[in-house]
Amino acid sequence: MRLIFIGPPGAGKGTQSQRLLEYLGIPHLSTGDMLREAVREQTEAGRLAAPYMDAGQLVPDDVIIKLVDERLHEGDCDQGALFDGFPRTLAQGRGLDKMLERVGLPLDVVIELDVDDAEVIRRLAGRGRNDDKPAVIAERLKGYWNTTRPLLKYYQDRGLLHVIDGRGTPEEVFDRVRTVVDGIRRRQEGVTAT
Ligand code: AMP
Repeated sequence: MRLIFIGPPGAGKGTQSQRLLEYLGIPHLSTGDMLREAVREQTEAGRLAAPYMDAGQLVPDDVIIKLVDERLHEGDCDQGALFDGFPRTLAQGRGLDKMLERVGLPLDVVIELDVDDAEVIRRLAGRGRNDDKPAVIAERLKGYWNTTRPLLKYYQDRGLLHVIDGRGTPEEVFDRVRTVVDGIRRRQEGVTAT
């Protein structure tokens, strides 16, 4: 299964992805993690990305698409993949479609974790990461609403989008995620059985 998690920073994408990975046993492609590693290792992508990340802005699409493309070719993504924090723009969404088309593997579902801004700010304030300072949080939220929301429509129009209420404990949210994923699996098994 190939699925995408979309949600504002602090929505719980990381926590929910981790649980879903254990549940489905598929590779986790977090562009945030990939970028932080690239910055640590001072690769070319890392050097390009660092100033954007520090400012809470989106890293340019071509840098991101190249990173994901390279990762998809590592060979462990044939059975599925969980995209976390990617795509974040319409251009990245189209880029992903092209990459998946090339390998003949369709996208199965897009899950939006729905959490309002006040809750995001409250959660991020307790996290203490470098880019979790109030001014940077505001910038990241602005980026989310401006560039990521059109992507939701893109997937909604294709019938791939499921919106999940991101409030509550991680267990409560994961129950909702699992219900969606199980439904899709059952549908797919039903299709292959006939
Ligand atoms: P995250 O861990 O997903 O919150 O990402 C941390 C930072 O990495 C973001 O604030 C962006 O600067 C950058 N980033 C991660 N993923 C993407 C992406 N798909 N497109 C652009 N920038 C990204």
